[in-house]
Amino acid sequence: MTVLADGDEMDGTRVAIIGAGLGGLCLAQALTRAGIDCVVYERDGALDGRAQGYRLRIDADGADALARCLPAELYDLFRRTCAVPAPRSRFLDGQLAPVAGRAPAVWSAADDGAQTREDAGDLCAHRQTVREILLTGIAERVRFGAAFQTLAVGPDGRAHVAFADGTAVRADLVVAADGVNSAVRRQLMPQAEPLDVGAVCLYGRTTLTPQVRAAVSDDLCAGTSVVFADGYAGIIDPMLFDWGATPPGVTPVADYLYWALIGPRTRLTGAFPGVVPAMVAEHLARDWHPSLRGLFRHADRDGVALLPVRSARLARTWPLWTAAPATFLGDAIHAMSPAGGLGANTALRDAAVLAACLAGQASPEEAARNYEEEMRVRAARAIHLSEVGAAALFADVI
Ligand SMILES: Cc1cc2nc3c(=O)[nH]c(=O)nc-3n(C[C@H](O)[C@H](O)[C@H](O)COP(=O)(O)OP(=O)(O)OC[C@H]3O[C@@H](n4cnc5c(N)ncnc54)[C@H](O)[C@@H]3O)c2cc1C
Repeated sequence: MTVLADGDEMDGTRVAIIGAGLGGLCLAQALTRAGIDCVVYERDGALDGRAQGYRLRIDADGADALARCLPAELYDLFRRTCAVPAPRSRFLDGQLAPVAGRAPAVWSAADDGAQTREDAGDLCAHRQTVREILLTGIAERVRFGAAFQTLAVGPDGRAHVAFADGTAVRADLVVAADGVNSAVRRQLMPQAEPLDVGAVCLYGRTTLTPQVRAAVSDDLCAGTSVVFADGYAGIIDPMLFDWGATPPGVTPVADYLYWALIGPRTRLTGAFPGVVPAMVAEHLARDWHPSLRGLFRHADRDGVALLPVRSARLARTWPLWTAAPATFLGDAIHAMSPAGGLGANTALRDAAVLAACLAGQASPEEAARNYEEEMRVRAARAIHLSEVGAAALFADVI
């Protein structure tokens, strides 16, 4: 028998958000500010229950979305905890020699003539720090250990959501913010499953210990380095922090070099079946410049992850929008290649737009439909730009 969650017996909540990732938490912040009742249901047992990546590039659009959703003091904390700007991008080969003409257009902000992503207002944030800030002040609205299982529409027209632990809740609107493997999407819109594009992303971090600083060149710590290899590419970003005293509620983070290798699966992992991700990175860089070899050799072993690149095909799935009192946000509906650095920025913008629609409309369903109309166009553009970015990174093989 399904048991309703504490306090939810009678009315449930107005908005049930599934997933306490970047988009879900950002939406909860904005709804709380607008005085709209919401609860976030997160599968993990805690915010730090699982490593979820390291460096996040937040562009001007993402920062603007955060400014709209967060109270001023939290937005200020977000900006203060970003890495020290390192406004120089280099495009290199494996020997660290300059390569001309390969900068992805989506990175060079050519629209306004800016030369680097930092000139265009990009910030580099530590993902876990951003999530800690997004949880600040709304922790009592987040239920950890609540894995979405099913959604049904009750006779009252409301959504009845059941969780894997046997609890359930009623809501006027369910927002699926449960990421690329969204269980909500699989139930309500199985046709919107993102495609595996045949590429993978191998990423990790290398903490800047004195030993690492001696092994890698200072140039790697001075700005973004993009390394073009034979059919794949690497991105290295310095994450140097200057917080002064660690702000309350935020876990200290040691300086590190973030790195990611992206390219076709056959190129990156085909030759190394069964090899642990950290070793794959070391193998791939075995003929590279000693500084790059040092970077991968000293990587934080347990933190190296390998993910398939998946991309939504919105045009095909859009007309089949769900009839349930539910909507989607972030990777749950518009997964895209990380090559564009746009997925989180798009999810944050989703949160700002959906919150504004919910604050301005009497009916949650009408608000959701207005939000979807705007989001479909914006997200389709971000997916396109991400694909263009991916092609620029490994265009010589696809
Ligand atoms: C290596 C890499 C680098 C990236 N770099 C950038 C970047 O620099 N800039 C950028 O804009 N984007 C970047 N992205 C993309 C970005 O990470 C995603 O687009 C972003 O995290 C999407 O946010 P989200 O809130 O939709 O989903 P997520 O952040 O994935 O959050 C989903 C949440 O839902 C929870 N969940 C899952 N299933 C359930 C369930 N059944 N019930 C309850 N909860 C559930 C998960 O535990 C998680 O907490 C990168 C991605 C990768 C892989």
